[in-house]
Amino acid sequence: MTAAEKVLTHPMAKYMRTDRLPWIYCPGCSIGIVTNMIARAIEKLDIDFEKIAIVSGIGCTGRVSGYFKTGTFHTTHGRSIAFAEGLKIANPELEVIVVSGDGDIAAIGGNHLIHACRRNIDITVVCVNNFNYGMTGGQFGPTTEHGRYTQTSPRPLGDIEWPFNLVKLAASSGATFVARWTAVQVRRATRSIERGIAHKGFSFIEIVGACPTSYGRSNQLGDGVAMHRHLLEVADIQNGLPPHEAELEYNSRIVCGEFVDIEKPEYTEVLREAQAKMQQQKRK
Ligand code: SF4
Repeated sequence: MTAAEKVLTHPMAKYMRTDRLPWIYCPGCSIGIVTNMIARAIEKLDIDFEKIAIVSGIGCTGRVSGYFKTGTFHTTHGRSIAFAEGLKIANPELEVIVVSGDGDIAAIGGNHLIHACRRNIDITVVCVNNFNYGMTGGQFGPTTEHGRYTQTSPRPLGDIEWPFNLVKLAASSGATFVARWTAVQVRRATRSIERGIAHKGFSFIEIVGACPTSYGRSNQLGDGVAMHRHLLEVADIQNGLPPHEAELEYNSRIVCGEFVDIEKPEYTEVLREAQAKMQQQKRK
């Protein structure tokens, strides 16, 4: 079987724009694995593909939306959640999934993230955290660990800032479904993406992944295989742990699991109720 035939007979090929393959990701990158997770979650939930919108921003993860054969938006830097909120408010019947990188969503898009969590709008955010801006050459970003080397935090000092813990950020901002997995925990992560999509409210799923080309090379973490082996070794599953205890130390322990799953009024429903009240008022 040729490589092209293999692609076309892949069970998830029906969801993909196969004419765009092979994709741009470097060998050993986790983003392809996460793309597969999202496709499989959609398949498992058996959602009408016409009713799904996939939104992404800028960066390597931002390219994910372009490979899906559904309604997709590749938006401006940091604004994927803002676009997704607009879509969901305009058409609450849509399943809106945001696929984003850590730099995109927690730096320029940080404000959109925290306020979408606070509103509890029913969208699902899948964030691939590879600790740097991979596409633009490997600069440090808001999740780069203190002391790590990047193109903009070179030796001997490394990054002088301290990173966001995205799970803690999302949970403390009001997200009602929060989970973290690594890219090698494919079944568990896919299940959380399914649960996040099915959840009525703001779902945030962090997938800790490998960027061997930029972050791995700057920090001598090995190739893609070595980095993914390492993720498996340090993943520590703690389902139900209070999110403020969900630590992430790349070298020694990445706490994984589903940390938040609660019910709270959902934003577009609250908005509809408010609209109905206003119309009633007008009629009086
Ligand atoms: S630069 Fe890093 S994140 Fe981007 S495709 Fe390559 S390995 Fe993946």
